[in-house]
Amino acid sequence: MVQHYNIALLGATGSIGMQTLDIIRRMPERFTLVAAVAQSRWQELAAVAREFGARRVVIGDARYEQQLRDALADTDVEVLVGSEAIEYVASTDDVDMVVNALVGYAGLHPTLRAIESGKRIALANKETLVVAGDIVMAAARDKGIEILPIDSEHSAIKQCLEGEKRESVRNLIITCSGGSLRDVPRERLADVTPEEALQHPQWSMGAKITIDSATLVNKGFEVIEARWLFDMSPDNIKVVIHPQAIVHSMVEFKDGAVKAQLGNADMHTPISYALLYPDRALEANTPFSMLDYPMLTFSDVDREKYPALDIAYEVLRRGGTAPCIMNAANEVAVAAFLAKRCRLTDIVATIRYALDNATFVERPTIEDYDRVDAEVRTLAESYIGQLNY
Ligand code: NAD
Ligand code: MG
Repeated sequence: MVQHYNIALLGATGSIGMQTLDIIRRMPERFTLVAAVAQSRWQELAAVAREFGARRVVIGDARYEQQLRDALADTDVEVLVGSEAIEYVASTDDVDMVVNALVGYAGLHPTLRAIESGKRIALANKETLVVAGDIVMAAARDKGIEILPIDSEHSAIKQCLEGEKRESVRNLIITCSGGSLRDVPRERLADVTPEEALQHPQWSMGAKITIDSATLVNKGFEVIEARWLFDMSPDNIKVVIHPQAIVHSMVEFKDGAVKAQLGNADMHTPISYALLYPDRALEANTPFSMLDYPMLTFSDVDREKYPALDIAYEVLRRGGTAPCIMNAANEVAVAAFLAKRCRLTDIVATIRYALDNATFVERPTIEDYDRVDAEVRTLAESYIGQLNY
């Protein structure tokens, strides 16, 4: 008997969302799409609902509600609007698994609601764990739920840890392709355009994570994500540059053995691993051949060029609301950079400003996180507003 899951897909029109739909499409005996969520792309959302026979859809931005209703008027798909509705579709009784592929802080409450409702969770939305990893992991433990990572590095680490004892592990080693600006010298970073920063050499992803990869904020977030998913001390989480993006991450054991997970840079593998775990059943799009990669190289991160990585370790050690502050300032600054309202290097400057000026709460509740997130958004906007760019 194979396990079948009814899925609520949050972020159905995005990069991870569309690849998840691809897997659902290829494995109808394993998955049924019950609910789909998108922010503004109502036409794509309506098409998804029709193709997969979804029972309900949520559009985040209320301005598109009427178009979506009209587009689905001849169906019995239930149309819902706004953030409360996203939490609702992550919690209904007819859903077994929530795939969270939203971007940013918006993913946090739906993750918590899915945990409270006892759903299996495949998590792409790393910001959930960056902001509130303490609360999220405690809630998952209470409910006996395992959070299955979609992020390729964490999927790799999970695969390397299968069958191993926790106490045998010395270090987690997260690989980093270096992002779109790895060949751009540090002195030029301030002049990089969004168009240039959006050209990732290895992965085709949403705009926000592509910029996060260019600044290495993404890698810093992945260190925080690993700290929570695998309960590791920050001292035992290392980052290494690996431009070919073939080794997706590694685990170093105390006896000197190192396990690595390799494969093509194709998110279908980590997504299907999370969806099907503990099975492996999806046929790879392109078989992997070592012979295509006779040279795999590794090097240290240039900490001067990429200060965001050290800031991530620093906020992780500081704890409390510090990671939440970093995340909110980054979200605002990345949006401003994409809108050409600030320079790439202002992203880290905004994060530093917010860390110096926002309210710090040592043992935050979820309400504290909401409050600090909102406060930092205002702070960051005003900081960027006075930059005179
Ligand atoms: P994306 O921008 O391509 O897609 C985001 C999706 O979420 C879209 O469907 C959008 O409509 C929806 N959405 C965003 N904000 C929303 C809101 N407030 N309300 C309702 N819907 C909303 O992003 P992506 O690249 O697919 O990334 C999704 C998440 O997965 C991010 O947290 C990212 O860091 C993580 N991730 C992505 C990749 C990748 O290859 N793309 C790899 C690892 C991790
Ligand atoms: Mg990743």
